[in-house]
Amino acid sequence: MLSMVRLGASGRQTGRRTVATVVSGNKTSKLVRERLKQEVQQMKQQVPGFRPGLVVLQVGDREDSNLYISMKLKAAAQIGISANHVRLPKTATEEEVLDNIESINQNPSVHGLIVQLPLDSVHPMDTEIVTNTVAPQKDVDGLTCINAGMLSRGNLGSCFIPCTPNGCMTLIRSTGVSVAGKHAVVIGRSKIVGAPMHDLLLWNHATVTSCHSKTQDLPEQVGRADILVVGAGKAEMVRGEWVKEGSVVIDCGINHIPDDTKDSGMRVVGDIHYQSANQRAAFITPVPGGVGPMTVAMLMENTVQSAWRFLQQQKLLSGR
Ligand code: NDP
Repeated sequence: MLSMVRLGASGRQTGRRTVATVVSGNKTSKLVRERLKQEVQQMKQQVPGFRPGLVVLQVGDREDSNLYISMKLKAAAQIGISANHVRLPKTATEEEVLDNIESINQNPSVHGLIVQLPLDSVHPMDTEIVTNTVAPQKDVDGLTCINAGMLSRGNLGSCFIPCTPNGCMTLIRSTGVSVAGKHAVVIGRSKIVGAPMHDLLLWNHATVTSCHSKTQDLPEQVGRADILVVGAGKAEMVRGEWVKEGSVVIDCGINHIPDDTKDSGMRVVGDIHYQSANQRAAFITPVPGGVGPMTVAMLMENTVQSAWRFLQQQKLLSGR
């Protein structure tokens, strides 16, 4: 009953209960992709023959990476981005990988370069060195130290923001809930999700708590979150009873768990126990269909942004 009174317009009443409003990444990412398609059209009008260029560099042949790459290439094609998949064999050495990156860095028709992780090589490879070899101005995954450093200092306008946190932030904004002054809790501190999410919330003026595997009082921390973002990789770890009433809950997790009712014998769940958390949150992202599609859309956003920057630097634009 309490949540019914407090949630007002943001909750949806079903029978006697009020459940959270679903924050759909499918819907929001579609809007983003439509806008980007128009931007690419504008570019072509201003600079005939021009197309933003994206390269996805893969080492090896992991099945999950193949699936993610095909989703990225498909989204790029729909928007009008020229996307190329460069696949190096598992036997490629670190030196060969770095040489390939250097050569793509030099190619002026490529505005975005991402290295699909994890690297699937028979040789030892330092992921940090590999990702840091990408030119910062083409680092549309936002994983180089230069872009991460700018983000951590609040220089948001100059850096590329990693795609998953950027997608989370776009979904939080879509709720209409203001971030400034709110208490945000982020579970996870990885370079790709948790750490940049912390920085992004901080520089959007939230008070941020970062939690990780050594955090001792996770339920209590979660209970203080007006905005909760979870990227832990632990199926349904966050229980609904931990969640603060009326909060915004964003679930980055992608976990496959056994399910006899499915033909595949598996189903995908997030890091949050959705059925209980949606009884307390005001807004919640589903899994699938929440953060996942936003990650791909934000990669496209960064690539188009990089192409605009390139055209500006080359002084090929009038009035932008
Ligand atoms: P990592 O394994 O790199 O990081 C997990 C983080 O969660 C670590 O910081 C770890 O802490 C923390 N953690 C693990 N267990 C616990 C726990 N019991 N309590 C508190 N914190 C914990 O994963 P990623 O950041 O790469 O990914 C996180 C999730 O997001 C995964 O499910 C992944 O599949 C998903 N993901 C989804 C994407 C999307 O597009 N939707 C994109 C990228 C990732 P510590 O640092 O102490 O080890």
